[in-house]
Amino acid sequence: MTDKRPDQPASWENEVWDSDPLMKRSHINKDTYLTCWCPHCGEGLNEDDKAVFRIVNKAGEVGISRVSPYLNVLDRESTIHVEDDEELADVHCPHCDASLIEPDMVCKKDNCKMLKFHISVSNSIKLLITLCVRRTCRWYTMSEEDNERLILRDSHEW
Ligand SMILES: [Zn+2]
Ligand SMILES: [Zn+2]
Repeated sequence: MTDKRPDQPASWENEVWDSDPLMKRSHINKDTYLTCWCPHCGEGLNEDDKAVFRIVNKAGEVGISRVSPYLNVLDRESTIHVEDDEELADVHCPHCDASLIEPDMVCKKDNCKMLKFHISVSNSIKLLITLCVRRTCRWYTMSEEDNERLILRDSHEW
């Protein structure tokens, strides 16, 4: 596999979505607005159309990061300096301060830590998503069961 340059976002999309049939069938696409929830205290993480996390950077500084809750948008504001490709040391819920890092998983693309939280799409039930803490990577995974629930959403039940 050739190494894709980060300034070619289209290649990321082709590579990830084409290489995984399940992802391709998912109703989470690049334009889907994700409402994010803490899996520990259940509080909503979205605020003014941004998802808000308490982050710890490599230098150990603690700050607040506000990111666009779309999978294809890398827009982000942080109160501390974080390099675009930096692997965050930790990510916490801003409400209960529980760590959202999934200790038993690493990113398949770059071996970075993974961040796990609940999302909902429009009025869907909460689904668990796990994604890479490195901003420019954007690799993510969901359980097969949750993906199937999203796929089923438009056909029946929901
Ligand atoms: Zn929480
Ligand atoms: Zn990654």
